[in-house]
Amino acid sequence: MGASSPVDPAAPRRERTAGSLCAVHIVLVASRMGARVSEQIVTAAPPRTAITWGGAASRHTSLVAVLALTVGFATAQLATYATTIYLHRALAHRAMTLRAPVAWGARFVLWVTTGIRPRQWVAVHRKHHAFTDVEGDPHSPKLLGWRKVQLANWQLYRKEARQPGTVARYARDLQPDIWDRVLFDHALVGLGLGVATMVWVLGPWVGLAASTVHLVSYIQLNSAVNAIGHTFGRRPHDNSATNLQWLAWLTGGEGLHNNHHAAPTSASMRLRKGEVDPAWPLIWLGSKVGLVKIRLSEVKLTPPRPRTASATR
Ligand SMILES: [Zn+2]
Ligand SMILES: [Zn+2]
Repeated sequence: MGASSPVDPAAPRRERTAGSLCAVHIVLVASRMGARVSEQIVTAAPPRTAITWGGAASRHTSLVAVLALTVGFATAQLATYATTIYLHRALAHRAMTLRAPVAWGARFVLWVTTGIRPRQWVAVHRKHHAFTDVEGDPHSPKLLGWRKVQLANWQLYRKEARQPGTVARYARDLQPDIWDRVLFDHALVGLGLGVATMVWVLGPWVGLAASTVHLVSYIQLNSAVNAIGHTFGRRPHDNSATNLQWLAWLTGGEGLHNNHHAAPTSASMRLRKGEVDPAWPLIWLGSKVGLVKIRLSEVKLTPPRPRTASATR
C-alpha cells in the first residue's frame, strides 16, 4: 500500500519552495489544532452548567473525531500507495524500478506506518501468485472463506512470513542490506516511531486516535484485496481474482485485481477503457521525470496456468 510521489527536479526553485512551505504550513496548522484539542480536553475548565459543558465536550469530541479520521485515513493511503507502488509492483513483480532515494523513502514510510519487512511481504505475495486459490495459497478465500481472510488476513500473513523457507524460496533475490539490519528489520521500533510522531505532532488524544484509524483502515483495505477481491466482482480474464473499481479507488488500484493476476508484470492495473488505477498517474509522472523506470512498454497477459499444488513461480 503515495510514498513515492515524484518531485520534478527541473521545476523552478520557487515552486518547490512554495510547495515545501505549504506542506510545512499544513503540518504546523494540524499540529497546532491537534495540540490545542488535546490541551483543551485535558485542561478544560469545570462546566458552569450541564448544558454548556455538554456542548463544549461535544464540540471537542467532534473535532478529535474529524482530525483523527482525516489524518488516520490519509496516513493509511500513504502506506497503501507505498505498498502498491514499491512492495507490489516494483519489488514483487519487477514491473518497474524506482530510483534509489525514492525506493529508500518508500521503505522508510512503510517502516514507520506498517512495520512490514519488504522481503517477507514479497515472499508471501509471490507464493499467493504461485498457488492462487489452491492448496498452498497463504490467504485464499476460496479455501478459508472470505470473511476469515477479511478479518484474519494479517494473522495469515504473519504465519506464512514466519514459515521456514518462505522468504528463502520466494524472495531469494532480496537479501537484507545494512538499512534492513539497522532500521527496517525492527518492525516495532518503526511502528513506535510512527505513533510517537503522531502524538508529538497532534497531541496524545488525536495522535493515538489517528494511529488507530490508520492501522485499522490499512489492514482492512489490504485484507479486502485478498478477500473481497477474490470473491465478488467481475472476472474479464480467466483467473479467480475480481475487478472492483470502488475498491481500486480505496487501494491505489489494487482493486483491479483480476487485471493484475492476468498481467502481473504490468506497471498499470488499468487494462481497458473505463477503468481507473489511481496510482498510475504517479507512476507515469515518475517515469517522465526519471524517478521510475517501467520495464515493459506493452501489457503482457499471462496465460492461465494449470492449478496444481506443485506449481512454482
Ligand atoms: Zn490475488
Ligand atoms: Zn501481485
